[in-house]
Amino acid sequence: MRPSEKGGLSASPLMWTADRPPTVFVQGQGSWLTDKEGNNYLDFVQGWAVNCLGHSHPALVKALSEQAGRLINASPAYFTDRLLELARKIVDHSAMDKVFFTNSGAEANEGAIKLARKWGQIHRSGAREIITMHNSFHGRTLATMSASGKPQWETLFEPKVPDFVKVPLNDIEAVQNALTERTVAVMLEPIQGEAGVIPASREYLSALRGLTSREGILLILDEIQTGMGRTGTLFACEQAGIEPDIMTLGKGIGGGFPLGALTASV
Ligand SMILES: *Cc1c(COP(=O)(O)O)cnc(C)c1O
Repeated sequence: MRPSEKGGLSASPLMWTADRPPTVFVQGQGSWLTDKEGNNYLDFVQGWAVNCLGHSHPALVKALSEQAGRLINASPAYFTDRLLELARKIVDHSAMDKVFFTNSGAEANEGAIKLARKWGQIHRSGAREIITMHNSFHGRTLATMSASGKPQWETLFEPKVPDFVKVPLNDIEAVQNALTERTVAVMLEPIQGEAGVIPASREYLSALRGLTSREGILLILDEIQTGMGRTGTLFACEQAGIEPDIMTLGKGIGGGFPLGALTASV
């Protein structure tokens, strides 16, 4: 138990994962959260950067309640009208051709790693190393933690999933030097989010696109935090004038509802 969970909430069976204030929220509206006692709080957290329309936006409430009354889950074994519509919308508004939906950003990245490894098996003699960036954040599953470059995670949950090689951001030479015949992809956030809003420069992204194309390896962009209009264009990579081979989406795509997407060009 952590100090902040002493008192009334210490009896809760909720497992400790983060220090939480001793407050219980019961409602959210736009930028505000309300607790059990009726106190209002201006919420700068917004579900950890996922509620891009704020809490309980009427458009989201309407879409979710209508759909909940119509069809919640038909199974991945079937097509549904909404599944087809959303996939088409993403493809029409991006440089990507194919979409796979997930429940979270981490799963979308997990899928990106699997897709890259599968591609390496078929097209690059089993190459499976993925070059990722120092201080990057790609999620909390075992493989996405292994891909991440968060220093605090280095010794956690060992052994990690192997074959991630880390280099400093915005250093094209470091990527060149890390490249071998075992490399299958380079994976990065166009703007590092958790690391403290650190952009990959346009020149660097453009050089990376050139390098990966010349070397015949994949460029994977994690747009989970930067995508869905968060940086002024629908996807941040548009500002560098590049198109990735694989792009992952999350957070804003569901506006707080758990949804992610793995997208790929063919
Ligand atoms: C939040 C985030 C993830 C993980 O998304 P979850 O939906 O929390 O699993 C992955 N990559 C980036 C860049 C993120 O900001």
